[in-house]
Amino acid sequence: MFRTIRDIALSGRKVLVRVDFNVPLDENRNITDDTRIRMALPTLNHILDNGGRLVIMSHLGRPKGAVEPKYSLKPLVAHLSKLLGKPVQFAEDCIGDKAASVVNSLKNGEVAMLENLRFHKEEEKNDPAFAKALAALGDIFVSDAFGTAHRAHASTAGIADTLPAYAGFLMEKEINYLGKVTTSPDRPLVAIMGGAKVSDKILVIENLLDKVDALLIGGGMAFTFLKAQGYNIGKSLCEHDKLELALSLIEKAKNSGRKILLPTDVVTAAEIKEGVPTKTLDISKIPENELGLDIGPKTIEAFAAELKGAKTVLWNGPMGVFETKPFDNGTRKIAELLTSLHAITVVGGGDSVAAIEQMGAADKVSHVSTGGGACLEFLEGKTLPGIEIFSRNIKEMAEGAKV
Ligand code: AMP
Repeated sequence: MFRTIRDIALSGRKVLVRVDFNVPLDENRNITDDTRIRMALPTLNHILDNGGRLVIMSHLGRPKGAVEPKYSLKPLVAHLSKLLGKPVQFAEDCIGDKAASVVNSLKNGEVAMLENLRFHKEEEKNDPAFAKALAALGDIFVSDAFGTAHRAHASTAGIADTLPAYAGFLMEKEINYLGKVTTSPDRPLVAIMGGAKVSDKILVIENLLDKVDALLIGGGMAFTFLKAQGYNIGKSLCEHDKLELALSLIEKAKNSGRKILLPTDVVTAAEIKEGVPTKTLDISKIPENELGLDIGPKTIEAFAAELKGAKTVLWNGPMGVFETKPFDNGTRKIAELLTSLHAITVVGGGDSVAAIEQMGAADKVSHVSTGGGACLEFLEGKTLPGIEIFSRNIKEMAEGAKV
């Protein structure tokens, strides 16, 4: 159980909300994609509609602990104000007098945004004094920044030593869907793993192997598994130091009655280039001088058969070099399949999110995770510092805590 924003009275209280407004800006400091801002709106509007005094905290870019005007959050104010339909005040600093005077001038239902948290090096160091200085500004802490929940920073974790922490709606959705996959999936649970490297996903695979009914492996990482089984993979991606591990994962799956499906055919080419001549070959026939760049039609069919009866599906990592045509086919087909299932479908972790968005299918699955690293760490079974805070016993909080 974890506390959410639904569990608290907000009227008249100063509510500090950590969001992820790390949006892309062009050279004129115009927002080129406001998705991250729009995704936080339900939480922000809920606080305002319930009479809270909303104080928004975020980071932007990597100013590395120094004030760098190009990373100021000020250019976001006008757009946020438009989206919220009310004025947004701006504090030139996120702690101290400048912040306090803006925050203390707020009335119920009004909103302020603080300057970039990462203008202070203490933020990423989770410095206790800095965390207290942030906490001093408010009465309640809400976090909606799942993308930074795997980092123990002052504004994601340290602040909760002083203020009771509540999950915003976006955070709640992430925890519920990723938690459903990892702890209480409707069965069968099928996980599709892909992407470049086994090494990036070993911990996820190890954690999921105990839970899945079937694990489908595609993408570049599949070739390390195929090589480990003795196939000649030509110039395909391979992590030679992970061969033994790959074999042990296959063994482990066999011994515990979990299915692992690897590609049985692949699309190969001499180089990664749009429009190059390609071959579709059985995995035993990959030429010495070519690379496997996508899963083949027989593999897609086998994966589809496994997915058909699934009740919960997790997809992490593209099935091929989806950025370059025609090697996007396997990824595209898996995305299409996912959208046609009567199942809980969760897509998470970096490039599979880019892939599903590119295929225009992001709104047709149950959940697309907003966190890359945070999503992977959640799937690895780790306790994330920015999530643990929601179930912390408030009575056990540090002395002097505002409860
Ligand atoms: P990841 O960030 O680990 O999900 O990896 C995504 C990257 O893996 C994408 O840039 C893909 O182009 C790449 N990828 C997927 N399949 C292959 C493959 N067969 N060979 C080389 N790279 C691949």
